[in-house]
Amino acid sequence: MPRSKGRTGRPYLRLRDTLRKSPGGRVCWICGEEIDMAAPPRTPRSWSLDHVVPLDKGGAETDPANARAAHYGCNSSRGSRMATRSKTTTSRRW
Ligand SMILES: [Zn+2]
Repeated sequence: MPRSKGRTGRPYLRLRDTLRKSPGGRVCWICGEEIDMAAPPRTPRSWSLDHVVPLDKGGAETDPANARAAHYGCNSSRGSRMATRSKTTTSRRW
């Protein structure tokens, strides 16, 4: 199975690591609050990498200029809001 795409690539992991260690990498760019680096992964207050320009909008996954630190909760709520919005477009077939 080719795994050229996805979030396990080495450049992505390096970028993630660099961002975590950078001075600005501890503040959520969405809500502006500090991120608890000790929070368990995939919990609302935990650290996650967010993309300024979403990948499905052509944003570069491994470009440091497109990467920002965000709470996992802020990151996923931002994403789901966009997803529900595109879903509510006329999908009635009957
Ligand atoms: Zn936040």
